[in-house]
Amino acid sequence: MIVVMAAGASPEQIADVVTFVEHHGLHAHLSEGEDRTVIGVIGHEISEDLRAGFQNLSGVEDVVRITRPYKLAGRQFRQQDTEIRVGPVVIGGPELVVMAGPCAVENQAMLMETAHAVRAAGAGILRGGAFKPRTSPYTFQGLGLEGLRILEQARAATGLPVVTEVMTPTDVEAVAASADILQIGARNMQNFNLLAAVGETRVPALLKRGASNTLEEWLLSAEYILSRGNYAVMLCERGIRTFETATRNTLDLSCVPLLKEWSHLPVVVDPSHGTGRSALVTPMAVAAVAAGADALIIEVHPHPQEAWSDGPQSLAFPAFEALMRQVAAVAEAVGRPLARLESGPAASAGAVARG
Ligand code: PEP
Ligand code: MN
Repeated sequence: MIVVMAAGASPEQIADVVTFVEHHGLHAHLSEGEDRTVIGVIGHEISEDLRAGFQNLSGVEDVVRITRPYKLAGRQFRQQDTEIRVGPVVIGGPELVVMAGPCAVENQAMLMETAHAVRAAGAGILRGGAFKPRTSPYTFQGLGLEGLRILEQARAATGLPVVTEVMTPTDVEAVAASADILQIGARNMQNFNLLAAVGETRVPALLKRGASNTLEEWLLSAEYILSRGNYAVMLCERGIRTFETATRNTLDLSCVPLLKEWSHLPVVVDPSHGTGRSALVTPMAVAAVAAGADALIIEVHPHPQEAWSDGPQSLAFPAFEALMRQVAAVAEAVGRPLARLESGPAASAGAVARG
């Protein structure tokens, strides 16, 4: 249920509604809009009598049931787009943000080289997996904590905030201490304990869509994070499993405008995992921008043919530079200019405010 406060309701009236919510064993989530505050009331079923009780509180304009199964993720709860500031960039704002870097952090030299290259090409965030969810237990599983240290060094050297995956609830504290964005991988989209643990942090989360999950299931997973009070959630489409075998996954770009209709959360598109083929990454990246994506996440490697994971879908530096030129042009054409960091060597080195 949502309680819509009258325009100009006082802080005391809002506080009284929150007290009333908590008194009835429910949880209040505030969304402060431009001219009014909306309070999401989450918890047990709300009787008609209790609903009427809310309606009678001072400063309340309307009480509306949320018809969709997801509550805080939906447009009913929050009409304006959620904007998530991460260091020098904002995801979900007027500008397009590009996250780029290797699938996995392999060593310090390759990450530094890649971080400088993607920054020079116009990326706003550095990606790199330290904990890798690999299909086979016999393949490289990531550098773990050492990978996090290397990501921190790359952030200090380039000023780029860092997005990296967290795989288990017990690692959330360590990864949250290093990362600017916590990535939840496709395979963990319904790891509800992990979602709850990320929900307890206040570090922005990038929630990838499970390969076989519907949009509604995905938004309900986002709800696990939001309902714990972490409102900085972005959704990342990375391809779903269909009968088609020509591509690694089928990138579902129609989800972008649909999510924009249903939800206020920023939408990120990953054409690397979405196709599995480097030749398809740029065409699908520009298509994603045209479809309304707020950000892209792209795998880039100094030598894709030598990559320890996801080489076939990784772009070498020249291909990434070409992608950025095309993306910038399409972003401009759809009124979504690419976010530009200040240039100059290490202009903002070490100066990234986390979160
Ligand atoms: C990744 O980003 O490297 C990754 C493992 O992605 P996904 O969870 O989408 O497969
Ligand atoms: Mn990968």
